[in-house]
Amino acid sequence: MATAWAEIDQAAIGRNVRTLAELVAPAAVCAVVKADGYGHGAITVARAAVAAGAEWLAVAHVDEGEALRTAGIGVPILLLAEPEPVDFDRVARADLRVTLYSSVGIKAASQAATMANRTLKVHLKVDTGMRRVGAEPAEVPLLARQVVDSPGLELEAVWTHLAVADEPANQFTNQQLETYHAVLDVLAGEGIHPPLRHVANSAGALAHPAARLDLVRCGIAVYGIAPSTELESVVELCRALRLVARISHVKQVEAGAALSYGLRHTFSVDTTVATVAIGYADGIRRDSHLHGVEVLIGGERCPIVGTVTMDQLMVDCTPAVAAGAAVAVGDEAVLIGTQGQRTITAAEVAERLGTIPYEVVCGIGPRVPRRSR
Ligand SMILES: *Cc1c(COP(=O)(O)O)cnc(C)c1O
Repeated sequence: MATAWAEIDQAAIGRNVRTLAELVAPAAVCAVVKADGYGHGAITVARAAVAAGAEWLAVAHVDEGEALRTAGIGVPILLLAEPEPVDFDRVARADLRVTLYSSVGIKAASQAATMANRTLKVHLKVDTGMRRVGAEPAEVPLLARQVVDSPGLELEAVWTHLAVADEPANQFTNQQLETYHAVLDVLAGEGIHPPLRHVANSAGALAHPAARLDLVRCGIAVYGIAPSTELESVVELCRALRLVARISHVKQVEAGAALSYGLRHTFSVDTTVATVAIGYADGIRRDSHLHGVEVLIGGERCPIVGTVTMDQLMVDCTPAVAAGAAVAVGDEAVLIGTQGQRTITAAEVAERLGTIPYEVVCGIGPRVPRRSR
């Protein structure tokens, strides 16, 4: 019996995919399930997303794509970054759509494809301003030509990635779109017409209709989380993850006493303290107590007190006790999700910790079992 677990609501994933598909039609939805489905469990999420109409999946690493194939998932899977040259034979065997942006990569991909006697479908990536990976716009015509002329390769898409789509008023997104379309125009002038164009992440899909094109690559919205607070009300999304841990110990701590490593929290009054069986090894930030992060116990918001330890953390149960809850060993404490009338969202935790909800859900450790329902 696990003492901490994440509950994944497959119906919520399905609803979110349908909501996004309706919004962006006729563009198709590519559900991004990298990083173990943003901590939700890649295979569970992929199955739910595909069942709800996601026509594509995307991952960051070759291993992630292979795991989906091993699970029997057959839809097109896009690799979001150019693989290492040694990995192209695996890409070909797993039949992954491959992102390329270098001449070396194109050569290695062509070799692997011919060796495996397969055709690799290439998504050529252009850097229009994110400045992370991708070919310079001026290099794209030559690279596209190289793809088209390489045995075993087929140019399926030219794509790019947006840097500030989560800030709807930021004009840089329009600049990126202009650069992108200028590249496509040059290619068209040379008779190269990639059948698919894709640009939008969740924020792009939600906030920039012009970025939807043929395919949207949605990650965070599939999980029911808005890419930014500004985009919370575009469509109604259903949060798909609950993070729960059991209370392993309950005690009274007397006024004046302190607790946890460093004895950094001292109580001013006698206090009921619960120990909860989840810690920083499971992705709960060690200094959560300094940022006012709360946990639901007995349906009430109760603050984490003292330094979070590797496997356990302590909670001041005063609000639960005041509301009449009998706090007991074995009770559930909710770190993300709803309990009774109250909800703690990944967005709230992120806000308190000075990060984004992506990092909060991706940070849930591999030791925490994912239970789908
Ligand atoms: C992760 C990623 C996405 C998904 O982004 P969300 O903001 O989660 O929708 C899309 N495209 C690329 C290239 C990515 O790396």
